[in-house]
Amino acid sequence: MMQNDVVVVGGGISGLSLAFYCVQAGMKTTILEKNDTIGGSFASPHYSANGKKFWLEMGAHTCYSSYQNLLDIVEACGITDTIIPRAKVPFSLFMNGKVKSIVSSLNIFELLVSVPNLFTLKKDGESVKSYYSKIVGERNYNNVLSHFFNAVPSQKTDDFPAEMMFKSREKRKVVLKNYTFKEGLQSVAQAISARSGLNVFTNQNITSLKFVDGLYEIRTADGNEYSAKTLVLATPSMVTSKLLKDIKPEIANHFSQLKAADVDSLGVIVRKENISLKPVAALISPDDLFFSVVSRDTVPDDNYRGFVFHFKPGLDDKAKRNRITEVLGVSMSKIEHTASKINTVPSLRMGHHKWLEKTNVLLKKEKNLLLTGNYFGGMAIEDCVSRSRSEFDRLKG
Ligand SMILES: Cc1cc2nc3c(=O)[nH]c(=O)nc-3n(C[C@H](O)[C@H](O)[C@H](O)COP(=O)(O)OP(=O)(O)OC[C@H]3O[C@@H](n4cnc5c(N)ncnc54)[C@H](O)[C@@H]3O)c2cc1C
Repeated sequence: MMQNDVVVVGGGISGLSLAFYCVQAGMKTTILEKNDTIGGSFASPHYSANGKKFWLEMGAHTCYSSYQNLLDIVEACGITDTIIPRAKVPFSLFMNGKVKSIVSSLNIFELLVSVPNLFTLKKDGESVKSYYSKIVGERNYNNVLSHFFNAVPSQKTDDFPAEMMFKSREKRKVVLKNYTFKEGLQSVAQAISARSGLNVFTNQNITSLKFVDGLYEIRTADGNEYSAKTLVLATPSMVTSKLLKDIKPEIANHFSQLKAADVDSLGVIVRKENISLKPVAALISPDDLFFSVVSRDTVPDDNYRGFVFHFKPGLDDKAKRNRITEVLGVSMSKIEHTASKINTVPSLRMGHHKWLEKTNVLLKKEKNLLLTGNYFGGMAIEDCVSRSRSEFDRLKG
């Protein structure tokens, strides 16, 4: 059985950032990831044909100057010079088969009357719907803004706590306001996993845990075994709950209260000359088969364009492919590559802060069990890294 100081289950940015802090502190650390690549929702598959290269973002796509913990890690990994700006192309609505600008869809009078509330209203205790309806007006919220919020976690967000979406954080002045990376966000995951002293094993589906004589024993579906004094679970809440069922039933039960949604994404790559759609950052749809289409037009390429459709659940492959060809106005034969991915995102609800308070109480007596992910302080990348950092600080005492 492989002995470690720390074993991290889950190789998304939450697990990777916590592993980064442990390795920096000189701990022998191993990451175990179920999939065959590292990164979780940092997923940027690369393709090449006739010597031309292209990549797509199947999950996260944008970072901000306020992502200070992430930026510290990027700097320590020596990849700051791979940060690149995103081209200024619009986020648009897609309604009744047509692309519409956001401004033309807003009721300006209602907006002007409502927007002063921005300076007096607090987000605490408000839902996304109640808060933003007061900021932009109820009609503007229902007709326009709510669809943008729904597109973030690909689900209805009316009942999300307002303070968990789009937090205001201090910005790092020397960094671009919003940016991506030359080879996509997965290159950040790869840079962290290449840190010296960090072991990374993919295709390791963890199915059971034991706690014996002060050590965690971690077992995969294939029967591989690892052990560590400190265990990090950086998996979706339902997986964390299931894994802890036998060894920490009270925590498992507490985590089982959280809900999550799977985002079913299908990406396509098309030669530039075969598509007439004007460049966009994303198309947001109120009433289509998909919540959003995120495009690669933010990092323009000489030869190809790429589009990732984040579909509503329960569609078969044929329905998805048909809708893609209709929206893009291209036949299937013009699609050169496809990629698919399922990401899990939390379904946060009002009262989440109470769940978090109880989590902190339960973890007080569990110094060597660290729990991180995108369902603690919020689902943005920086929320994940901040959570990992505070869990690492708890370990160090
Ligand atoms: C489509 C999409 C777009 C987004 N865009 C942005 C954006 O632009 N900017 C932003 O700030 N945020 C964005 N987010 C949110 C952010 O990217 C995610 O919240 C964050 O990346 C989640 O990281 P994580 O490590 O917590 O979870 P994940 O990335 O989901 O990683 C969890 C990992 O655990 C692994 N795992 C699960 N079960 C097991 C098991 N039993 N054994 C071993 N491994 C297991 C999974 O395979 C996965 O790799 C986006 C999210 C999505 C889905």
